[in-house]
Amino acid sequence: MPDSLPPCPECASTFTYEMDALLVCPECGHEWSAMVPAEGERVVRDSVGNILVDGDTVTVIKDLKVKGSSSVVKVGTKVRGIRLVDGDHDIDCKVPGIGQMGLKSQFVKKATD
Ligand SMILES: [Zn+2]
Repeated sequence: MPDSLPPCPECASTFTYEMDALLVCPECGHEWSAMVPAEGERVVRDSVGNILVDGDTVTVIKDLKVKGSSSVVKVGTKVRGIRLVDGDHDIDCKVPGIGQMGLKSQFVKKATD
């Protein structure tokens, strides 16, 4: 099983698994859609499955250590103007107080503004 499945949006369990087109949480029984993008079409989704696009604003959903420094991106940090890139860290952005860095889409949630 790939380790890229998002945590359960209801209880944040990380033991989610795929069943047909759905993601299922074994802990609270929540089921939600996990549409698989068509081959060749790159879609980056946040921790709860929202599609992210360049320029979006996202909120960090857990404390993230900054590689190579003692800085931590705190949960709740709002990051504006993200840019989607290829790779393990699929969001390139400028984090307030930290600077340019890569984030993983599974650790952010799309903000509405
Ligand atoms: Zn759950």
